[in-house]
Amino acid sequence: MPNERCMCPVCGFPDLDELPYDSQGCASFNICPSCGVEFGYDNSGASFEELRRRWIDGGMLWFSQANKPPRNWDPVQQLKSAALLD
Ligand SMILES: [Zn+2]
Repeated sequence: MPNERCMCPVCGFPDLDELPYDSQGCASFNICPSCGVEFGYDNSGASFEELRRRWIDGGMLWFSQANKPPRNWDPVQQLKSAALLD
């Protein structure tokens, strides 16, 4: 499914390079440029919800140094679009 959007389950960032987990459930070990979670590593001891809470508590900062955030990036809007914010 080449056109499948790869959304981060922690912060809702919709444009990951790869799915966080493949169809076998194997982690990509990619790092989300938005919240900095490394799939298969950071979430081994914490749920996505806990990681999300930590990211929100930390001020929802853009993580990646190598990739700039999208224009007009709005972390709250990102969470809302992904239905991750209540
Ligand atoms: Zn993320």
